Amino acid sequence: MAMSVRRRTLLKVIVLGDSGVGKTSLMNQYVHKKFSQQYKATIGADFVTKELQIDDRLVTLQIWDTAGQERFQSLGVAFYRGADCCVLVYDVNVMRSFDTLDTWHEEFLKQANPSDPRAFPFILLGNKIDIDGGNSRVVSEKKAKEWCASKGNIPYFETSAKEDYNVDAAFLCIAKTALSNEHEQDIYFQGIPEAVPESEQRGGCAC
Ligand code: GDP
Ligand code: MG
Repeated sequence: MAMSVRRRTLLKVIVLGDSGVGKTSLMNQYVHKKFSQQYKATIGADFVTKELQIDDRLVTLQIWDTAGQERFQSLGVAFYRGADCCVLVYDVNVMRSFDTLDTWHEEFLKQANPSDPRAFPFILLGNKIDIDGGNSRVVSEKKAKEWCASKGNIPYFETSAKEDYNVDAAFLCIAKTALSNEHEQDIYFQGIPEAVPESEQRGGCAC
């Protein structure tokens, strides 16, 4: 095929949250349809990509995972740079992972420094809802939704990377949310982020 008729859009999505909440597992389930019970800290991997179609647009999600440095909260500026959406993940069975969401939210805004922090697209995933049939759960859906409301109505999904529950739905919402931020990026990010090939440049106004 000589040329793609459709416009292609590259969206950078970063996934943040405490170590062990299932960030890598959610990505693996979404992109590779695989789940591993084995705990292994992510090694080196920067990002994985997944293509999807939203209406008439081909969208490439570039999903950035941490390499375990989240334990030290030192993720470096390249990780945050040019993000179109920030996915926050906690474990519904671990209160601490919910309590640290404020810190992750603030850290993102500080490091990524988006032009309009109130309007920047976040999404929250409450993961591991499969564990013990929900009996070991310590964060209620209501509590999570209240947190989302307090941050300007962040979309919320309850997921299980293990059972592949709500994972596709969550990432579709992530893609749509990231797309909605594209216009702002066109205006405020003059350069193209390093990791984006020239062929992936964004098109003009979609009005
Ligand atoms: P990360 O540190 O946030 O990247 O977390 P990982 O993806 O490495 O997951 C940490 C551990 O939790 C691993 O042992 C996973 O197998 C397990 N895990 C991740 N997601 C789920 C889930 O939805 N349900 C269950 N039961 N275990 C999960
Ligand atoms: Mg990981």
